[in-house]
Amino acid sequence: MKKILVANRGEIACRVMRSAKKLGIATVAVYSEVDVNAPHVVLADEAYLVGPSPSDQSYLVIDKIIKVAVDCGADAIHPGYGFLSENAVFANAVKEAGLTFIGPSAESITVMGSKLAAKEAVSKFDIPMVPGTDKALKDKEEALTIAKSIGTPVLIKASAGGGGKGMRIVHELSEVGEAFDRAVSEATNAFGDGSVFIEKYITSPRHIEIQILADNHDNYIHLFERECSIQRRHQKVVEEAPSVVLDDDLRHRMGQAAIDVARSCNYSGAGTVEFLLDSEKNFYFLEMNTRLQVEHPITELISGVDLVEQQIKVARGEHLTIKQDMLSITGHAIELRVYAEDPETNFMPSIGTLDTYQLPSGQGIRVDNGYREGMEVPIYYDPMLSKLVTYGADRDEAIAKMIYAIDNYHIEGVKNTLSFGEFVMRHPAFLSGDIDTHFVAKYFTNKDDTSANPEDELAAKIALKLFLEYKSNHLAIPRL
Ligand code: ADP
Ligand code: ADP
Ligand code: MG
Repeated sequence: MKKILVANRGEIACRVMRSAKKLGIATVAVYSEVDVNAPHVVLADEAYLVGPSPSDQSYLVIDKIIKVAVDCGADAIHPGYGFLSENAVFANAVKEAGLTFIGPSAESITVMGSKLAAKEAVSKFDIPMVPGTDKALKDKEEALTIAKSIGTPVLIKASAGGGGKGMRIVHELSEVGEAFDRAVSEATNAFGDGSVFIEKYITSPRHIEIQILADNHDNYIHLFERECSIQRRHQKVVEEAPSVVLDDDLRHRMGQAAIDVARSCNYSGAGTVEFLLDSEKNFYFLEMNTRLQVEHPITELISGVDLVEQQIKVARGEHLTIKQDMLSITGHAIELRVYAEDPETNFMPSIGTLDTYQLPSGQGIRVDNGYREGMEVPIYYDPMLSKLVTYGADRDEAIAKMIYAIDNYHIEGVKNTLSFGEFVMRHPAFLSGDIDTHFVAKYFTNKDDTSANPEDELAAKIALKLFLEYKSNHLAIPRL
């Protein structure tokens, strides 16, 4: 493998190129019109324009991206996360063009891309699942019967959902019918697949996920857990590793369950198995993400393993040289996703120019960044600017470094989640480790709620709605 095309943008494109360069592999960027001077374009050895700014005319156009790869003599394509990373049609097309897809097979992507197919695939292993249905619901009568038997609250979920979208909590049986209809129509619009199912709504869960690695020679390892309970809109904002609630026994059991999930679809490469952990420390399989995860850096810091390097080596057909008993957790890592979003208005995307943009640095501070001073934050893509990651000998040290790093990260021109990050780092519940997925709703007081004038608030809500619709329409992932 001498040349890799990275089919992505922003921090993750830069991140992938760093590991490729380390291995002596040349890098190729693709970009849309608005990204002509973006850092990933500057960092790459070669860069090619693939189309206008909207992602459905550039970063999501399979034929254009594969043509660039073939024409420039690349041997492989790395998809990053988001965009085409979990698109089985793309994985297949890359292979058919005679190139290597740095990721799992199209078959693994297809199985795990559907939450229902995933439940079916893992059913031959003894993996605990959230009580609920494992088949698409036929109609609202069936939905009601099942909701009655499980007991409220329940969650109606889109099988093809992702990125925190396509979920509806139902507290009263009388609401099941209407919620079912809306869930089906939303899932059809956003994901092109109206299959929905019901799960028991776990009232006070933690989101704990396990990083796994597999090669093409039946070797599987896990690289411990990440605690991702600090979420807004069912999407993570702060992650840490290790989790304060796992002991060695639970870590081992969850790690083995994650490996079984990976085995159930003959997985290859880096992947993440997501679980919910309830207040009694029972864990339940949620889904598997068949790609590099946004928050992979915290695992790299506590394990000392470069996950992108491993992805590349596995894709080259090599055997994993890391064995489970060689791995151990050293220190503690925390990640804050620095989004161009306004925490004061319910994390609405904030668009503008980065008039000031200065990154913190120092021992134990890693910034996976995709922007530079003077750049505009485009409306077309996910509004994440960077990931601020700190590493310390223990949790207290990682937290102290995060506060120091936030104070030395200077952003002017767009609203962002740095101040929210500091709020979390100083909050007694976070400091004590007593958190669940409701942390933001429970503790983060929306200061503007009482003071905002109603017109501004309405405008903000409309903008958010349009943005989310835009995102779901353009990021919806076609299935095989
Ligand atoms: P991770 O799962 O890696 O922790 P996210 O949940 O934020 O992180 O998802 C990573 C990216 O993939 C985000 O940009 C998210 O919007 C996108 N994404 C994942 N699955 C889907 C999907 N089915 N539809 C739309 N976007 C998705
Ligand atoms: P996505 O594909 O959008 O990432 P997930 O199934 O991974 O969907 O769920 C995302 C988040 O939604 C979880 O981290 C959790 O906060 C919440 N969630 C999902 N399923 C449940 C459930 N059964 N009970 C409570 N919360 C849930
Ligand atoms: Mg998930």
